[in-house]
Amino acid sequence: SKLGGGNDFQLFSSEMKEEIQRRVQLELGLRRALEREELFLLYQPLLDLDAGRIQGHEALMRWNHPELGIIVPAEFIPIAEETGLIVPIGQWALREACLQNRRWEAEGGQGLGISVNLSARQFQQRGLVEDIRGILEETGIDPGLVTLEITENLAMNKEEYMISRLRALRETGVRMAIDDFGTGYSSLMYLKKFPVQILKIDRSFVSDMLRDEDDAEIVRTIIAMAHQLKLRVTAEGVETEGQLQYLRGLGCDMVQGYYISRPLPAEQCIRLVKQYDE
Ligand code: C2E
Ligand code: CA
Ligand code: CA
Ligand code: CA
Repeated sequence: SKLGGGNDFQLFSSEMKEEIQRRVQLELGLRRALEREELFLLYQPLLDLDAGRIQGHEALMRWNHPELGIIVPAEFIPIAEETGLIVPIGQWALREACLQNRRWEAEGGQGLGISVNLSARQFQQRGLVEDIRGILEETGIDPGLVTLEITENLAMNKEEYMISRLRALRETGVRMAIDDFGTGYSSLMYLKKFPVQILKIDRSFVSDMLRDEDDAEIVRTIIAMAHQLKLRVTAEGVETEGQLQYLRGLGCDMVQGYYISRPLPAEQCIRLVKQYDE
């Protein structure tokens, strides 16, 4: 190149330096993000295909950083996990999501479900079940409206421990969902032992299923077997009418994705719920 090798190296190392600086900046900032009220939740509707109604919403976290702007969870959740900050942040998210669901209830959104993601570190945290029970009581939400989502890989290691933990969570009255299903190593029959009620098919299969027969086969198999196990199935990442119709034909229970709606600020959710109810 015109710049010569030495400059290329400098360019590379200054990029790395920037990356490290950003990481340090995020880590320091995250420690204060909660008290400074920089975290907020967006809500993405889940459409129940049988009922033709919005079943509820999944809470998705965002961070409004004072200098860097909006940061997505892919960047800050791993930092929150490594530093242990995910525990107070996760408690905040569950409380806030439950409170928001109660606000919607007062605005005519009775019976809506609310789903909240639980990361690996949170799931393994001592006192998790007591914390969740406390938040459910404090917010006065009907626990049957709450779904906690955990990722597949997390669910599949340490089987005995997982089962007892899932059972304890289940005893609080919430429902459990396996997120990103299909990306891990587990067999569907393995799931029979897990006290979960919902499977969420990973977006990667849904986005390719209409042009890739292997992905279509995976989606069909997951839905059919999940139904044999009496589990409900949600398909993530539905972006087109064609994908929605294909999933409907397979008897998929719920769909979520940009085709129905992007994640929305809380104030915009009830309008869409009412639109589907008309
Ligand atoms: P996830 O739980 O699998 O959430 C779905 C992600 O897919 C969200 O990304 C959502 O905005 C995106 N999405 C939804 N529909 C579509 C679609 O049709 N097309 C495409 N391309 N994307 C779609 P987001 O909000 O960036 O969240 C990413 C991940 O971060 C989540 O994946 C979840 O694992 C994690 N996360 C988000 N909020 C929380 C939280 O409060 N706590 C924890 N522990 N993790 C969270
Ligand atoms: Ca999720
Ligand atoms: Ca997912
Ligand atoms: Ca169905």
